[in-house]
Amino acid sequence: MDAASLRHYQEKLLKRKEQVLAAMAHLEKEKQELLGQKHFDWLDQAWDENEMRVLERLNDGYLRELGKIEMAEGRISSESYGGCLACHQPIEKARLDAFPETEFCLECQDLRERFEKAS
Ligand SMILES: [Zn+2]
Repeated sequence: MDAASLRHYQEKLLKRKEQVLAAMAHLEKEKQELLGQKHFDWLDQAWDENEMRVLERLNDGYLRELGKIEMAEGRISSESYGGCLACHQPIEKARLDAFPETEFCLECQDLRERFEKAS
């Protein structure tokens, strides 16, 4: 991949990272608010516990995405960005544009998902 494209995706990744960090900060605020609420009703309590689990699952998803973004940034620095980590073919441009942190080409991603579903 040429230097101009690498820069282009680096900017995209940076923007994506800012979005994820902002979303995580927002989640954290919601969590704090939830923790600050006092309930005397077990039903409200149960509702909040459920809500907290949802927030934590969301947070886990963001953390995973953040990890992927950081790995992609590492691949940009080492100029290996844009290649599929499994088959080493270039990843489709449309795919990189939509998911700049992607690690696999469409075919390999598809295979992995099918494998994960089967196991
Ligand atoms: Zn591949």
